[in-house]
Amino acid sequence: MSSVAPAMRTTTYCYPWDLQRLGVSRSLAEIADRGFAAIDLAATYHPIDSLSPRGGLNLFSNARGAVFFPARAMRYGRIEPAVDAAIAPVWPAAAAEAQRIGMAINSWTITLFQPWIVDAHPDCARVLPWGDRSGSGVCAAHPDVRAYLATLCMDLAEQFGVPLFRLEGVVSHAFDLDWLRPRTLVRVPPLARTLANLCFCGSCKARGSDAGIDVAGLQARIVGTIEAEIADQPDAEGRAAAVASDGELVAYTERYADASVELVRDVAEALGDRAAVSVTVASPWRALLGETRDDALLTRLIEACTQVDLNVLNIPGNPLIARLNATLAEPRPLSALFVEVRNPTVTPAAMMAESGPDKMRANLQRCADFGVRELSLYNFGLLPDVDVRNFVETVGRLTLA
Ligand SMILES: [Zn+2]
Repeated sequence: MSSVAPAMRTTTYCYPWDLQRLGVSRSLAEIADRGFAAIDLAATYHPIDSLSPRGGLNLFSNARGAVFFPARAMRYGRIEPAVDAAIAPVWPAAAAEAQRIGMAINSWTITLFQPWIVDAHPDCARVLPWGDRSGSGVCAAHPDVRAYLATLCMDLAEQFGVPLFRLEGVVSHAFDLDWLRPRTLVRVPPLARTLANLCFCGSCKARGSDAGIDVAGLQARIVGTIEAEIADQPDAEGRAAAVASDGELVAYTERYADASVELVRDVAEALGDRAAVSVTVASPWRALLGETRDDALLTRLIEACTQVDLNVLNIPGNPLIARLNATLAEPRPLSALFVEVRNPTVTPAAMMAESGPDKMRANLQRCADFGVRELSLYNFGLLPDVDVRNFVETVGRLTLA
């Protein structure tokens, strides 16, 4: 009897505008030749300026995000997809070609970071604690946002037989993520940053009130703390202690975070057995919730999806997610994104320090060792071919227990 070691499956993220420019058939043939089992094709995307070194330098710009497949408007409720009609035809072309050559086509789906929804429906926007609307993000607590995303995924599943949805950004992003030429001259200390990530939109406030929280009182305390932190007023320790013992704050934060869990659950329930739902499991709330409650939140998020997406370069965070997943009666399959980073302007310093060709194999092996069996390269159009080949060769040398 011989046993065959389980193989490491690989996929690669792709932008539809890159496939359109480089040629769908040619690009998919090249991707298949490299041994990738699937592409993760962006179906929706956030604002972007992306520079591709392939097939001659190319800049793609989009200021407010959009939907990049031919969504069927009549299926949707109040939030109707803002389709980029010039690029949307790539999706059916890529789906047909993928089917022809036996490759899977997954949907890379940006969820909350969709400024175009904020423009069309301001009531869906996330609202910062001091009352200003976020320009970039919608809130998962709004039922119309969750309904829109569940419909969107169903639309893709029905039209293209998508077997897996990678939901990106279901947990609220940092309040100042991707600000346009930011003008923040003051220091925003960590406690103020964490509190600034909370939402006080109409939906979140109603959910808080329903839970018996004095939302107006809580909001005033939070703004007072943020302002005192930014002004560097004395007694930072007293403020931190007050936050840590604020039961209403913990309850409000949990309800806000659980809106993201509900979003994933709504998408998974809509899809049923049609497709798997893979989610980047993360929490920005550990400092507020404490380890026990944050572990429980992360576990709820894992349980809501059918696969867990890690980031290979999240060296400190991955073991915790893998450990929580392993305690489930039905642990989810683990997948991990690998990003080749050489540009410090797009990458946090900690990830930069852990990246580089000399560390690639060790980092990928570390993921394989705690059970990751799918690695996704970010991203085909943004990398020169030598990087793609290097990644594939390194994956081929991993040891799988
Ligand atoms: Zn909200």
